[in-house]
Parts: sequence; C-alpha cells; structure tokens
Amino acid sequence: MIARRELGRGERVLPGLWRVRLPLPWPGVPHGNAWAIAAGSGVVLIDTGMHEAGSLMQLERALDQVNLRLEQVRLVASTHAHSDHWGQAAPICERAGCEFWMHPNHAHSTADPEKRLERRLEVAGQSGVPQQALRSYAERARELPSGIARVIEPDRDLVPGVEIETDLGVWTVHETPGHAPSHVCLFQPERRLLISGDHLLGRVSLYYDYGWTPDPVGEFVHSLGVVEELDARLCLAGHGRPFTDVHGHIDANRRLVQERLAAVTTGLDGGSRTAVELVPDVYGEPLTQTNAGWLLSQTLCYLRHLELGGSVVRSPDAGVERWSRA
Ligand SMILES: [Zn+2]
Ligand SMILES: [Zn+2]
Repeated sequence: MIARRELGRGERVLPGLWRVRLPLPWPGVPHGNAWAIAAGSGVVLIDTGMHEAGSLMQLERALDQVNLRLEQVRLVASTHAHSDHWGQAAPICERAGCEFWMHPNHAHSTADPEKRLERRLEVAGQSGVPQQALRSYAERARELPSGIARVIEPDRDLVPGVEIETDLGVWTVHETPGHAPSHVCLFQPERRLLISGDHLLGRVSLYYDYGWTPDPVGEFVHSLGVVEELDARLCLAGHGRPFTDVHGHIDANRRLVQERLAAVTTGLDGGSRTAVELVPDVYGEPLTQTNAGWLLSQTLCYLRHLELGGSVVRSPDAGVERWSRA
C-alpha cells in the first residue's frame, strides 16, 4: 500500500544554514523542510517534520549528510502547529535537551482531538454533507495518526519581540495567521532572509484552518502585506526549494485568493447553494472522500470572508446552511 518513499536529505543553502528535507506520507506533498541554522557550537532547528514510524531516523539521516547531529540542536522553533512542522518537537527536544518555542494560538492542533472532530462533523453537516458520508468520514478520521509524537507546551511563546540568535544574526518573529492561527514567519534583516513556513510557498497553494479565527482569508491577505513589508531577498519555505522572487509570489497568492472569491460569488449567481454544492464551482472538481475535508473548509473560509464583507448571506434551511448573494 505504501508507495516508495523519499529519504531525508540535507543540503547547505548558505554557510551556516542548511535545508533539512524530510519525507511526508501525503499524496502531492512528498516532503517538507526543516531549517538548521548555526548557533555557537550547535544549531537552531526551525520546524521538525511530522512524526511517524522511522521519522526521527530520517531527520538524523538528513542532518548526518551535512555533518550535524540531533544532539547539537540548541533550540527547536516551529513556524506553526501543523504536524509536518512540529510533530517531532517532543522527541527532538528530549534527545537534545533543548527548549521548544511556538506561537501560543496552537489550539487548532492541540485541543482535544475528539472535540475537534465533533466540531468538524457539525460544520460539515451544516454545509450539506449527507449523514452517511459524515459517519464514514468520522470512522476514518479516528483511525488517522495525528503526526504528532506528543503534545508539549512551548517553553516560550514565539511572538513579536522574541528574537532567535544565530551565527547568521538575529531572527525576528512576525505573526502571519491565515494558513494557521499559530503561523509566524522568521526574518533575518541584515541578510534579508525569510523563513516563511507555509505562509508563502514556491508553488502557490492556499490552505486555511477553518473555525478558529473570525476570517482566515482576510487574515491571510493581511499577512501577505506583513511579509511584503519585510522586503526579503531569499525565501526559505516549508515545502520545496528556496526562491528569490518573493514579491512575485506574494502577488500570485493575492491573485489566486481573488480568483477563488470571484468563483464563489459567481457560483451564487443562479440562486442559493450549500457550501458542498459550491465546491465544484470553485475548484472544478466534485467533493470526494479524499478531498472533502480540504475543499469544503476552504470554500467555507471564502464564504465567511464574503459574508463579513457584506456580499453574501447565509440562511438555515432544515439544519443546513444555504448561501446567497446579499
Ligand atoms: Zn501548514
Ligand atoms: Zn506544511
């Protein structure tokens, strides 16, 4: 059942900065990056890869390729609380005897899993997903591993004002919610280096956590402005290779958000629809068991943004919400 997997790989990006490329079990997302930055006799590790069988070995393999060892990690900091960015924080910190820093808005990843699932099911039901499909989704969701070795509280809140000291200089913290409520980007001002997590990726791909903040789409667009102000010259993203055209990528993200919002609005031209009915209009594909969680929550985020802007309204109809143009 398991396809041939990639292996952990390490490569030097700059003197004192390494890309630690770690395999992921997700279709279409074969790997994610952690970044090791020289700091005195050791390194600071930004992000961790997700936890699964053998994943710590993959990290060690990648570090070994650039002559680093897990025991040299002096600090682990995560850009956000998705499993591929902090799933291995606990075992790494334990082995290395170091602290873990992350933004405090991590409940989207750390709150009680059963409560989070119940809430998702409730939202999916309101959005027009049939009861039968909800039941089979719930069964599969309960069996899915979390990708997190162990939930640990950050030793320090990674918020603006906190600085991460490295041999390449100090990195500043910039809140960039939208993709996830806990998302931050890290910036090294003298070298104009940006560690962007999943806020800005080489291949434009939008994802928002639904249900934790009032307006993930609006927050994401605002966060694009925050990062644009930094004027970075090299972006080290959570997936894929480093890239230099940071402004071009910011613009491409803005364009795609506008396209999606326009598609949602156009989808309501013919009258009221449920979020489930709108998905094919926005994404050009129908909901399936595999894409449902993703596409439905994204469509709801766009609807919510338009609702706050006053251009769409929702009305309950026998427990299901129908959306229409205001
Ligand atoms: Zn993420
Ligand atoms: Zn990611």
